[in-house]
Amino acid sequence: MQVSALTEPGAASVDLAEPWSGLKGMVLVRVVVDLARCQGYAQCAFMAPDTFRMRGDEALAYHPNPEESQREQVLRAAAACPVQAILVEDTPIEATLSEATLEDPEPT
Ligand code: SF4
Repeated sequence: MQVSALTEPGAASVDLAEPWSGLKGMVLVRVVVDLARCQGYAQCAFMAPDTFRMRGDEALAYHPNPEESQREQVLRAAAACPVQAILVEDTPIEATLSEATLEDPEPT
């Protein structure tokens, strides 16, 4: 079933049967840092400052789902980490939506 916005002529329509259809084919970048392994050398913060940031002298903060545009910088940061503490995964959005569906049961 296709539904168009009533207030704005020409507005994009939404397929209610498949509301996420416009996202198909997209890939999410997932980042996980093993903070037990991280030694706070900060190479990642230098290589991908929009994703990794040092807090204080040794604490690392990072964005777990950086923008696709950050992907190359994040991969370079992972390669530069001297203790290989950074894991980068590409996840098709369909898989993420399936997980969300399974993890968010209908309210009772
Ligand atoms: S480069 Fe590696 S060791 Fe250094 S702060 Fe980043 S994750 Fe930690």
